[in-house]
Amino acid sequence: MSRSDSSTTKQEKQENWWEFCPVCGSKLLNHKCRIVCSNPQCQFFMSCSEFDL
Ligand SMILES: [Zn+2]
Repeated sequence: MSRSDSSTTKQEKQENWWEFCPVCGSKLLNHKCRIVCSNPQCQFFMSCSEFDL
């Protein structure tokens, strides 16, 4: 019997797009109503008005 490597535990990794900066790929810091890139050289940020939560 060959043991099949089937993953029974399906762990859905929901990759939140707001988790990482679309520009540099750094981790985004979630503030109250703002998402800021953790990369100081990037200075990418988004206000919550850009998306609906
Ligand atoms: Zn960035």
